[in-house]
Amino acid sequence: MADKTLDTLFHDGLRDIYYAERKILKALPKMARAAQSEKLRAAFEKHRDETEGQVERLTQVFESIGKPARGKTCPAIDGIIEEGEEILDEFKGAPALDAGLVAAAQAVEHYEMARYRTLSAWAKQLGNDEAMKLLEQTLAEETATDEALTSMAGATITAAGQQAKAA
Ligand code: FE
Ligand code: FE
Ligand code: FE
Repeated sequence: MADKTLDTLFHDGLRDIYYAERKILKALPKMARAAQSEKLRAAFEKHRDETEGQVERLTQVFESIGKPARGKTCPAIDGIIEEGEEILDEFKGAPALDAGLVAAAQAVEHYEMARYRTLSAWAKQLGNDEAMKLLEQTLAEETATDEALTSMAGATITAAGQQAKAA
């Protein structure tokens, strides 16, 4: 176990988020199709395109440590996405669907932000500036996405509440 150093942890973490990003890439189009609000749909579509770039950035980070880009099952993202799919199924066509989709998407972004924050700190510690910059670029996109979702959350909650009163 003495050989398990920060490099090992960094490589493991990269594999985790690489797996997660590829799962997210598949989940976002489903969320976009389900969204009732045009703004929310557009936000999911935009982030799907960004996510493609994030996967590409991760392959560059793998290259920077001389490892092949390979994922490792992340049970956390599997669970978060499964919860999102439950919302898709259970709230299909319901007034509260968009509010649920925003919540599901924010859980994804928060997981990503936690991972990228840690990975960029580890890259810095390891003296891998190239990796640090790439990871920080993605962190900035995840943070901006989270903020965009927050700005939409209010309207979706109001919509869900008003329709509930009218019902
Ligand atoms: Fe991402
Ligand atoms: Fe994970
Ligand atoms: Fe994201």
